[in-house]
Amino acid sequence: MFKRFTPTYVASNVYEIEIDKFLKLNIKCILCDLDNTLDAYYQKTPSKEAIEFNNKLKENGIELILTSNNTKSRVQKYAEMLGVKYSYTCKKPLIGKVKKLIKSLNYSKSDYLIIGDQVFTDILFANRLKIKSILCDNLVSKDQFFTKINKFFDKYVRRYLKKHNKLTNWREI
Ligand SMILES: [Mg+2]
Repeated sequence: MFKRFTPTYVASNVYEIEIDKFLKLNIKCILCDLDNTLDAYYQKTPSKEAIEFNNKLKENGIELILTSNNTKSRVQKYAEMLGVKYSYTCKKPLIGKVKKLIKSLNYSKSDYLIIGDQVFTDILFANRLKIKSILCDNLVSKDQFFTKINKFFDKYVRRYLKKHNKLTNWREI
């Protein structure tokens, strides 16, 4: 029943994951959520950590692309400062918009990894696309209003998956 919401791996946050693990999975492109995954929603410009993370990925031949449900003004400004491609108002878990983006890129499905902080948007989205995923804990405890509602159910699903040993830590890659 919860298979659709099961991530391939889990992490405390995106920054703890060793780049070697991405290489081991042969990842060439990471479709990454923005709010509460890379930075808090109120953080308008990329943090030092986000910049270093992107630089490290680039050095290792991995492209970072932001796929966010947030607005153009939020995502564009942040992504341009970080120097990465982006897709805004993605409407995750719907896959239509990002599927178009994927079609325009020269990667195969197995080259992708999706990282996000929500099972009902990011992980369901990844499983619908049949792309590997990493579910992170919240970067900060503050969320926007609609995210708060989602997070209520999110916690329930996480608890279920944990109890049934369905969560695999990224360290096991
Ligand atoms: Mg998020």
